Amino acid sequence: MVDGRMKYGTYLIFGAPGAGKGTQGKVLGTIPRFFHCACGDVFRSLDTRTPLGEAFLQYSSRGELVPDEMTVRLWMAVIGDMVGSRKFKPDIDSLVLDGIPRNVRQAEIMRDILEVKRVFHLSCPDRDALVSRLKKRALKENRFDDANEETIRRRLITYENESKPVLDFYGPGKVLNIDATQPPVKVTYDILTAIIND
Ligand code: ADP
Repeated sequence: MVDGRMKYGTYLIFGAPGAGKGTQGKVLGTIPRFFHCACGDVFRSLDTRTPLGEAFLQYSSRGELVPDEMTVRLWMAVIGDMVGSRKFKPDIDSLVLDGIPRNVRQAEIMRDILEVKRVFHLSCPDRDALVSRLKKRALKENRFDDANEETIRRRLITYENESKPVLDFYGPGKVLNIDATQPPVKVTYDILTAIIND
């Protein structure tokens, strides 16, 4: 309990850019009692004329993370709105997060808010496979940060250096490694099997 409020029961979808976090998060979010929130989508929905929107453009186009305090403050405000409008009902819904926490500092800041039940690590050691997925996504989803290979490579390095340590933060007892090169339906199956059997 924090300030008399329950922590949010949470499943984290974790993995490198292009591993399929968003795809899986969206699928889980269609199931009753699961509420999906993708941090990248929150940033992309910002008006780019606002200071936060501008910061997002600046950092993401370099393949870097937006500073932690800004990111978590924005995320808290968005989740607070979702609770206020009853789209997310923390007493009965599980939160499915993708893209946050994205480094150990964010995980620390969010420690008192999230009750992390599982971390699904969509694992894809073949970096070239990720690069080619991201290039396809650039064309289909109009993602400027996927459009050039330099930015993609930079994002993969950011993932290795800053995001991957989050797996150790939660530890092997919480983390389930899932082969992200499997067909999407098999990845969903692995996630749901773990949730059902927990
Ligand atoms: P991907 O699907 O490739 O992993 P996202 O859509 O999750 O990418 O994020 C796109 C960009 O938004 C990131 O490269 C980063 O600049 C910014 N971003 C998203 N989530 C966070 C976060 N939790 N902390 C800092 N920056 C973030």
